[in-house]
Amino acid sequence: MTVLAGRIALVTGAASGIGLATAMRFAQEGATVLLADRNAAGLNDALARIAPGEHEAAVLDVTDEAAWTALAAKIMERFGRLDILFNNAGFGKFASIADTSLDQWRTVLAVNLDSVFLGTKSMLPLLAGSRAGSIINMSSIRGIAAAPNAGSYCAAKGGVRMFTKATALECAALGNKVRANSIHPGHIDTPLTAGAHADPQVARQLLADVPIGRIGHPNEIADAVVFLASDASRYMTGSELIVDGGSTAQ
Ligand code: NAD
Repeated sequence: MTVLAGRIALVTGAASGIGLATAMRFAQEGATVLLADRNAAGLNDALARIAPGEHEAAVLDVTDEAAWTALAAKIMERFGRLDILFNNAGFGKFASIADTSLDQWRTVLAVNLDSVFLGTKSMLPLLAGSRAGSIINMSSIRGIAAAPNAGSYCAAKGGVRMFTKATALECAALGNKVRANSIHPGHIDTPLTAGAHADPQVARQLLADVPIGRIGHPNEIADAVVFLASDASRYMTGSELIVDGGSTAQ
């Protein structure tokens, strides 16, 4: 199956976890993948593992507007357009409101939410050059259902959810054939969550929150992102796709 044959795809946070799994699935489906991350060594490892193709790596800090502008110019020169943008890079900082400094709050908002705005703003002209542009923004079940000690993360991921809908409506009004959808994973086993999953007490609590009875694998998110990137989801825009083993159904 190569449902993304001929597509040019940009994945942020592609050196690890869900971003890496998705970059690899995109390549298997025939896309040419631009892997972006701030972790240069991780990007090299990722490039070595990905299915053959003209894939490229770009060191990018997703909070850096000038770096986004430079990357957009590079993609324009190299490919003349972009078909798929997966704004995935992010991280969580979990602390009570009392223990969260303004600096920590701003960092979480910058990496998880400002990044999505900057990526969308800089890449929209390139996506408008596609016959079927698709933006997939990484939110979380925490963008839908809150949790204690996760205020900044919930605010950022909730922001991603609504920004995605605003983007979808703006693109529809412009008639540029660009769709935008958000994805909302539950508990997924990645380097980001490895620490929590290694603590038996925390792992038990997390599992109790998942009706399906297990933590998810990054490939299970990657499969859903492939769907949102492909023509199979062509009537979906402004939607939120939850992939959480039933956590938010309770
Ligand atoms: P991960 O730590 O395995 O991968 C995140 C990648 O993003 C890393 O390669 C890291 O270098 C990169 N990154 C972080 N900050 C960056 C920056 N400023 N610029 C460029 N790259 C940066 O984590 P993951 O679990 O794969 O998470 C990916 C996304 O999925 C995040 O947005 C996270 O919030 C979201 N998410 C994860 C889970 C989960 O359970 N793992 C659940 C819901 C949502």
